[in-house]
Amino acid sequence: METVGTPSTVWSQETAIKEKRDVWQALKRGFRGRCPRCGEGKLFRAFLKVDNNCSVCGLDFTPHRADDLPAYLVIVIVGHIVVPLALAIETNYSPPIMLQLAIYLPLTFVASLALLQPVKGAVVGVQWALRMHGFDEENPEP
Ligand SMILES: [Zn+2]
Repeated sequence: METVGTPSTVWSQETAIKEKRDVWQALKRGFRGRCPRCGEGKLFRAFLKVDNNCSVCGLDFTPHRADDLPAYLVIVIVGHIVVPLALAIETNYSPPIMLQLAIYLPLTFVASLALLQPVKGAVVGVQWALRMHGFDEENPEP
């Protein structure tokens, strides 16, 4: 049997096994603003601006497609904290409406700002762990 040229990929058991990606671990690392793969490098270069790649392991972050999902999730999370709190306080104590607004509005604002970056990091981490979009090196997006 004759071989023609040299193959670009040598198929072996090692190349067939995909890198294992733990979804929960990637979610937690992203939530802390760290690279989902190594957990060391920073994920963000600004408040909501995801860096191009990890400074430690070099993972390319550009395939992420978080889009509006972090904002929707933050609305759901903060809504499920503030609305029951407001209902419980109104039902049990009914304080003046101006006092309630002076508490709920800043609370909603601060909680939303505080959660936006961690939730976006978690979304990017999950996308990487599930090989969504361009995070699958065998099936990159065009
Ligand atoms: Zn990394």
